[in-house]
Amino acid sequence: MSEKVLYEGKSKVVCEGPDSDSYIIRYKDTATAFNGEKKEDLSGKGKLNSSISNLIFEYLMKNGIETHLVKIIDDISAVVKKAEIVMVEVIVRNVAAGSFSKKYGVPEGTALKNITTEFSLKSDELGDPMINDSQITAIGIATADELSFMRAQALKINELLCALFEKMGIRLVDFKLEFGRAGGKIILCDEISPDSCRFWDAKTNKKLDKDVFRRDLGDVLEGYREVLKRLQNV
Ligand code: UDP
Repeated sequence: MSEKVLYEGKSKVVCEGPDSDSYIIRYKDTATAFNGEKKEDLSGKGKLNSSISNLIFEYLMKNGIETHLVKIIDDISAVVKKAEIVMVEVIVRNVAAGSFSKKYGVPEGTALKNITTEFSLKSDELGDPMINDSQITAIGIATADELSFMRAQALKINELLCALFEKMGIRLVDFKLEFGRAGGKIILCDEISPDSCRFWDAKTNKKLDKDVFRRDLGDVLEGYREVLKRLQNV
């Protein structure tokens, strides 16, 4: 790849695109957790996440969700629409886990009585703190309309993903989304993969996601391969 690198993130590189309205994103094999404190190269992770995320984005696009994905180039690269990332992460939860369980003392695996949505400020420096609507609009990160659109899209995406993953025998516990502004619209950006979601096997509750890396639970990519296999056969 000879494209000029514009930005290197923890798990992806963003390069100049074929035209002024696009970028090329390239998935890396690097796995990170705890705000980059834990870091390892897992050979093949880039390919797995790229394949998984592309299949999920294509499914969402078929179901009316606008995303940044334009064209898949190869195993690890795709052309995406140039978007100005809204600097909040949108987290959707169906089941208590991770920071939610820790913060509120709710045992992991507890089904939530309603779906929750929350926002975190996208800032490695500040450790992605949780932020509420009035704080986001006060700082000027997004408008109230943008926030309500992102929340509604996140819930629509959750519904679509729950239906898909149920067919795959996977429980969608929680996930993180990022949105960007492009052409006067808010579109889904970044990735949806085992790095950004909690996927549990519906029968065994086996973790098929990055928690295996975060918590040193064994072969990290085994679960990623399983998610891809089931996605390809759904
Ligand atoms: N998540 C993510 N990036 C982040 C923080 C969270 O992709 O910077 C995902 C995470 O994989 C999980 C969901 O968002 O699927 C909720 O994460 P949580 O708030 O429980 O944080 P964690 O326990 O991962 O620190």
